Amino acid sequence: MPRPTIAHVDLDALRHNYRLARERAGDASAMAVIKADGYGHGIRAVARALAADVSCFAVACLEEAQAIRDEGLNQTVVLLQGMHSEADVATCACLGVEVVVHSDYQLQWVIDSPDRPTLWIKVNSGMNRLGFRPSELAGVMARADQGGCRPKGFLTHFASADEPESPVTEAQTRVFNEAVAPWPDLLRSVGNSAAHFRPGQPLFHWSRPGIMLYGASPLGDRDSNVLGLKPVMTLASELIAVRTLQPGDSVGYGQTWTADRPTPMGIVAIGYGDGYPRHAGTDTPAWVNGQRIRLIGRVSMDMLAVDLSAAPAAQPGDKVELWGANVLIDEVARHAGTIGYELLTGVTARVPRRYR
Ligand code: PLP
Repeated sequence: MPRPTIAHVDLDALRHNYRLARERAGDASAMAVIKADGYGHGIRAVARALAADVSCFAVACLEEAQAIRDEGLNQTVVLLQGMHSEADVATCACLGVEVVVHSDYQLQWVIDSPDRPTLWIKVNSGMNRLGFRPSELAGVMARADQGGCRPKGFLTHFASADEPESPVTEAQTRVFNEAVAPWPDLLRSVGNSAAHFRPGQPLFHWSRPGIMLYGASPLGDRDSNVLGLKPVMTLASELIAVRTLQPGDSVGYGQTWTADRPTPMGIVAIGYGDGYPRHAGTDTPAWVNGQRIRLIGRVSMDMLAVDLSAAPAAQPGDKVELWGANVLIDEVARHAGTIGYELLTGVTARVPRRYR
């Protein structure tokens, strides 16, 4: 018997979320960000499912671009930052993958290459991670021109679009817009998922939604259901043991939770070895038999404990939802002190993905 711990992936929900991104992008087109193995959902299945609607995919490394091509998909693919050697330039050209250049040495690789991929220029508008400063752009464009390269467009990334009150996104938009103004005929790309929910936020030619496609909230102050997103992954397992704890009984490593009354308790076959967050401790919600239950004690590598007081008839073999439609991943992330991104991309290889 296979282990009952499964990540169910709802591809209709994925398509729904992409359509919502497109709607919210207004006049901009939306490239689907499917890096990190499609945010943990399986890049090949995600790319195939979106292929009819999406004309451009964005990835972080060449292997991901290769996976899309291996699926026989000929959409535009933008490699967001993963050009790590001179040899990668020729590979991108061969795969028809567009590259984002963030540093001089990369621009030189492209100029020196007999096979040149299409080029985007990354602008550092204030995140200060990657990209050219606005003051460097004229020099960069002149070097590209002298080298016979004509970039397709400019791209920047927002640091704080998920914080509605923060003035940073507006400032970054202004910096970017002014920086690229001398090249009005080139394309511009801004806008992670959070930017799609900022009223009045310009997204120029191409937005780049990622997390929202998978039905997790990009915003700290609003959950995914409020934003009209549908959860794509349901992380499910089963109860493998049920017992009643007596007052004074503790459960799990470190005995961090102790019963103060007779408590029906279940053990679920999932743990941090599956990517369920170890920091999701007591009170993190889960779902069994139509009832919301809660974790108790510490999460172990292969199992965790739940308080079954709300579902006292639960038995070994009963299905448990760890996140999905009934327990939003946003809630689990909050309890674990992290974000949905980390949870989705952290589901480990031993958890089979099952598509519907
Ligand atoms: N654009 C770039 C350059 C990114 O690195 C990412 C993700 O980290 C995205 C877009 C998508 O962001 P999000 O998943 O927040 O929508």
